[in-house]
Amino acid sequence: AATLFIVPTPIGNLQDITQRAIDVLSSVAWIAAEDTRHSQKLLQHLAIQARTLSLHDHNEEKRTQMLCNKLQAGESVALISDAGTPLISDPGFVLVRSCREQGINVVALPGPCAAITALSASGLATDRFIFEGFLPAKTQARMNVLETLLERTCTSVFYEAPRRILDTVNDVKTVLGDGRQLVLAKELTKTFETYISDTPDGVIAWLQADPVHQKGEFVLMVAGAPPRSDEMPAEAMALLKRLKQDLP
Ligand code: SAM
Repeated sequence: AATLFIVPTPIGNLQDITQRAIDVLSSVAWIAAEDTRHSQKLLQHLAIQARTLSLHDHNEEKRTQMLCNKLQAGESVALISDAGTPLISDPGFVLVRSCREQGINVVALPGPCAAITALSASGLATDRFIFEGFLPAKTQARMNVLETLLERTCTSVFYEAPRRILDTVNDVKTVLGDGRQLVLAKELTKTFETYISDTPDGVIAWLQADPVHQKGEFVLMVAGAPPRSDEMPAEAMALLKRLKQDLP
């Protein structure tokens, strides 16, 4: 049966394409790409000549029906985005949901994703984390999201655009104070890959130290709040234990 393949592509380093991604992109009838001109460069690099069509936020509803028709007719489709894993702060959700509803086979390939790459090397807790994607553009909405971090004990992961990164770190400081550890991961897998691990003040100082520091692609991570200690002090625990022994 025809399959919709979700195919991650490199987030900087072209060598991060997987063998399976190449095999799938070479075998499908159609490649649905966020920006066909952008993806043409990668496809040319891989010497892949599949037919491409665009699927972005503004035509996803319309394209979804067309792609589902192709899939129902037996033609497999690969979905790619400009970089990284499709659907992760990228288009594709409407398409995948429709395929699932229509009983069309959907297969996702594992591969590059900026959030997971950044988190795994951040030094912050990875056992539990929340991916927030991009913060809303409007101030009040941003503040509302950031306020949910006040009580959150797990790591938070954000994507951010270069023109907003300084404002965002400032907003984090406004809401959470200067006590939380932040990790800013920049230009992952590229030549100037950098991790800055500091308090908000330290990260702000670094961003302002050189205009070049604010250019590029960023993942911002915020350490969780320290867990609220519900445990009794050690002395109280010891006393309780002795009392229990004395009970009938
Ligand atoms: N789907 C992609 C993924 O799986 O990571 C994310 C797409 S989203 C539109 C683009 C955002 O991802 C950028 O603004 C940045 O926050 C982050 N990003 C993508 N590539 C990156 C890189 N090489 N280094 C750091 N962040 C990156």
